[in-house]
Amino acid sequence: MNIASMPQTPAVDRTGYEDLCLYIDGEFLKGGGRKEQQVLYPASGECIASLPHATREDLDRALSAAARAFETWKLSSPLERSRILRKVGELSRKNAREIGRNITLDMGKPLAEAVGEVIACADHCDWHAEECRRIYGRVIPARLPNVRQMVLREPVGVCAAFTPWNFPYNQAIRKIAAAIGAGCTIIIKGPEDAPSAVLAIARMFHEAGLPPGVLNVVWGDPAEVSAYLINSPVVRKISFTGSVPVGKQLAVLAASHMKRATMELGGHSPVIVFDDADIDRAADMLAAFKFRNAGQVCVSPTRFYIQEKAYDRFLGRFLGQTRQIKVGDGLHAETTMGPLAHPRRLAAMHRLMDDALSRGASIETGGQRIGESGSFFAPTVLTNVPDDCLAMCDEPFGPIASCVPFKDVDQVLRRANALPYGLSSYAFTNSTRNALAVQNGLEAGMVNINHFGQALPETPFGGIKDSGMGWEGGTETFDGYLNTKFVTQMD
Ligand code: NAD
Repeated sequence: MNIASMPQTPAVDRTGYEDLCLYIDGEFLKGGGRKEQQVLYPASGECIASLPHATREDLDRALSAAARAFETWKLSSPLERSRILRKVGELSRKNAREIGRNITLDMGKPLAEAVGEVIACADHCDWHAEECRRIYGRVIPARLPNVRQMVLREPVGVCAAFTPWNFPYNQAIRKIAAAIGAGCTIIIKGPEDAPSAVLAIARMFHEAGLPPGVLNVVWGDPAEVSAYLINSPVVRKISFTGSVPVGKQLAVLAASHMKRATMELGGHSPVIVFDDADIDRAADMLAAFKFRNAGQVCVSPTRFYIQEKAYDRFLGRFLGQTRQIKVGDGLHAETTMGPLAHPRRLAAMHRLMDDALSRGASIETGGQRIGESGSFFAPTVLTNVPDDCLAMCDEPFGPIASCVPFKDVDQVLRRANALPYGLSSYAFTNSTRNALAVQNGLEAGMVNINHFGQALPETPFGGIKDSGMGWEGGTETFDGYLNTKFVTQMD
């Protein structure tokens, strides 16, 4: 691993950084004695901005604005919703560099990845703009000639969404575009660690002419804000992206009020590399994909099962690629992996490493923090990792890859399916038989064979088991935001 450019000079250039505020009922609000929280640049730890927290009155105002706006937005023409979503797609492309730079300032990922996230999300706006014109009901043939039976699909109402910091633009726009496209209104609490992207989205919807109250942005203590919004009778649906434990707490709260919930939670994605695969290609692709966003990706490949005959070749090539990764300040052009988003993740990496080493694992590369300032952790490859150690059981959510050999397809499927997670999974093989066994046998919401093809707007994204419920993207994208109403009429 190369160290590209550890930050020597403090005082990162904050020119063009988002003016942090709340967005409620079409107004951008700040000051007024509201409590503020510092936003820190992960490459140096310096404070780049202050974020105002919503007061109780702010939350109540957001709830009433969203409820009031729903009464008209639910009747809006799909053409109008589509126009606004398309406009936000255009603005996202136009502003991608500026928004991307602010994402790097917030959470550290390399600038090219951050800009790429914004541009890819413009496609999400376009997809929702197209699909919202196709929210169809149906007519069911009746048993009597004078009866007409219809199925209508109607927006559920006010939604509350809670999104994390690792893809701060992507995770917010998916929820916002789905809610708005379906005719719902939404209050979103974005990530306080990385707030600029959600506000950039709000500004673009504002510029695109979204009526006041349809989208509202609030900040605060995550547990307090989510409990307050979910407990409010105004909110009819919640959507959360984040960890499994928090997702379960929020799902329980939502269930206690019989509210709809979409949960995009964590994963611990198995990668199965069969002897018959193109081993070098698999190793190259996986090294690039594994360390993207410093491994802080819910679908990051984390448990590497390599078939015995291919093991040495794969490991050698994978390590070679991993050592080429240039760790540094995300704003520097040569950096290919930035810092972890905050010191909490450093502590989590050390916990996994301590456990792995105490259980006899070997560090092939990396394994420790880099430097004294900023949250840098080296790209790490572990071998001899017991199946029951933390690195193989708890979502690493960082730059740690654990590689272990396997014998045959039945054994590897058992090991891959042994955890409660079921988000993404990967396999590399040139055998149709192995490919079929993996497609049928893996307990996962998404199975990628010989490439990484998930998370496109037109394809459904979601997990099973503890990894969540509901789908974002694909033709399923509006399902969580619509009620089904059956109407039967006799003349
Ligand atoms: P965390 O669990 O404290 O927070 C994760 C996210 O959930 C944050 O954005 C946080 O603001 C939010 N959150 C936490 N408690 C909440 C609550 N009661 N109500 C509403 N939102 C709440 O952990 P963290 O240190 O920020 O992140 C690390 C863990 O989070 C990882 O281990 C990973 O599993 C998970 N995570 C998952 C995703 C994902 O894409 N599924 C994204 C980010 C983090």
